Amino acid sequence: MTANAQSDIIRFSNVSKRFGTLTVLQDFDFTVAPGEKVSLIGPSGSGKTTVLRILMTLEPFQDGTLELGGIGYHEPGGHGPFKASERHLRQIRTQVGMVFQSFNLFPHMTVLRNVVEAPIAVLGLKREEAECRALDLLGMVGMADKKDHFPSQLSGGQQQRVAIARALAMRPRVLLFDEPTSALDPQLVGEVLGVIRSLASEHDLTMLLVTHEMRFAREVSDRVCFFDKGRIVEQGEPERIFSNPEQARTREFLQSVL
Ligand code: ADP
Repeated sequence: MTANAQSDIIRFSNVSKRFGTLTVLQDFDFTVAPGEKVSLIGPSGSGKTTVLRILMTLEPFQDGTLELGGIGYHEPGGHGPFKASERHLRQIRTQVGMVFQSFNLFPHMTVLRNVVEAPIAVLGLKREEAECRALDLLGMVGMADKKDHFPSQLSGGQQQRVAIARALAMRPRVLLFDEPTSALDPQLVGEVLGVIRSLASEHDLTMLLVTHEMRFAREVSDRVCFFDKGRIVEQGEPERIFSNPEQARTREFLQSVL
């Protein structure tokens, strides 16, 4: 369900994003309610990852406003009420965690250090406290017994589970997943989806998931958004989108991937 303006945790209003002459998002409006699990599906190149990267402040945008947890900002060069000052960007960043396709663990650090570094450096936690919480999170993703391993000693699925624990260690209000299983061998996909599934059901996290795993999107999402050419062509409850899409473009896409 899309909530009203006051309670939305994410709100894109009229956002435009261009890479040079390529317009990826045009007048993009999108809201997410706290605790909502939303999957973004659609053809490659339709702008899904760009939405996550803007939320993570990894990409600037040209027009419009983004609000996250009530903090709004507008990129320099735009005409809105907010500027993306460093302070704004930091406030936004502390609310959002991201799990990337390619894990992005620090290769020279053990599993435990990968999880504790940012909470110590950014949140100012004492090492003891950070380690205690990290061990809980590693336990939750089934990786506590590998705390002293280095990333190169782990499978892709194990690395991705550590990456999820690392993102959670920053206590984000919103967790973004960018095709978290697409770099994995097929036999390792299940363990990562299992962790995401349990997060989706047990925690009050807001989750935004870009995925090619249609069955999974159907199972864990409250809402599925079908993207095409930088627009949300159709969105709704997964049952409806997958079994009875209204738009021809959605039907074509689903037929091509299911
Ligand atoms: P999706 O996640 O749906 O596959 P993306 O958001 O990754 O789509 O990409 C949307 C469009 O933006 C694509 O045409 C892609 O080539 C382009 N794009 C993404 N990142 C960049 C970049 N850093 N520079 C130039 N073009 C980019």
